[in-house]
Amino acid sequence: DFCPPTGLVAAQALPEDTIRPSRLDEFIGQDDLRANLRVFLRAAMEQGRSLDHSLLYGPPGLGKTTLAQIMSSELGVNLVQTTGPVLERCGDLAAIVTNLRRGDILFIDEIHRMPPAVEEILYPAMEDFKLDLIIGQGPGARTVRIDLEPFTLVGATTRLGLLTSPLRDRFGVIFRLEFYKPAELARIVTRAAAILGIGITPGGALVIGERSRGTPRIANRLLRRARDFAVVAGAATLDEELAKSALLRLDVDPSGLDQMDRKILETIINHYEGGPVGVKTLAVAISEEVRTVEEIYEPYLIQCGLIKRTSRGRVATAKAYAHLKMQLL
Ligand code: ADP
Repeated sequence: DFCPPTGLVAAQALPEDTIRPSRLDEFIGQDDLRANLRVFLRAAMEQGRSLDHSLLYGPPGLGKTTLAQIMSSELGVNLVQTTGPVLERCGDLAAIVTNLRRGDILFIDEIHRMPPAVEEILYPAMEDFKLDLIIGQGPGARTVRIDLEPFTLVGATTRLGLLTSPLRDRFGVIFRLEFYKPAELARIVTRAAAILGIGITPGGALVIGERSRGTPRIANRLLRRARDFAVVAGAATLDEELAKSALLRLDVDPSGLDQMDRKILETIINHYEGGPVGVKTLAVAISEEVRTVEEIYEPYLIQCGLIKRTSRGRVATAKAYAHLKMQLL
């Protein structure tokens, strides 16, 4: 039987929550956002009022859910979590908001995917803490107004432009999350490794930090997978060499692009002469959903300067050609 060395075996399938920072001090990076949030939290606490409604936007895995949880733990209030697509009917939202207690935080992930009718009853709830519900149908229908406890809505979305402007305007604070720098990701990985009981060297952490597409969720996932390779290699600590070879085997190239990133670049260059190509055509060509391409893959490729979004479609840059050529050598 295979017997893994100690130190690397802990926490096989611990949920993401185990490594999620719960206090603002443990949240790494996003310095400006963190500094502002600290002020807003303190002001709300000193004045004994609920925090202003806050909108968090940025690509998946950058810490939006984590920040909502941090807000609730810093304020010592309950956090109620839901997502836009599950709020199918107005009654679904009504059931949640009528149960909120004073100061509670309601976190709605993917808030841009709420049906319009549900979004509309959210407006007076955000503005006046009132809920207007229509009871019955047809001529006999009537509206009842229900008072709510003051609460804080924290909404999360991948792109600000996906929100309707009436909804966007009702947020007092809008926070934009940026991709993380490699050194910040290395700190995140080092912290997660300590919690998971994985030995890692600074060099190993930096290799993972450099190749995680600027995203903590990916960094933590690559850490776990690299740990698996280290376990099988019989190593007690994940060092630079081990991290590099593990990531290569996971098909993450030295600049941190994964298979799908490269497929997108190859498709634009080889099938559409470098573009422009419409995002729908591109999505079909790589067998992905348009939303996945737009929300998960593109933001990082754009950030790296590998593709450009133009009015006529997506275009591969000279850097993308150079990147792929390097891969062929
Ligand atoms: P999102 O809601 O934006 O998709 P999450 O908040 O779920 O992202 O974050 C994904 C994971 O990344 C979390 O489990 C958390 O452990 C980790 N993470 C995100 N941001 C940070 C950070 N700034 N510091 C440490 N860990 C982080």
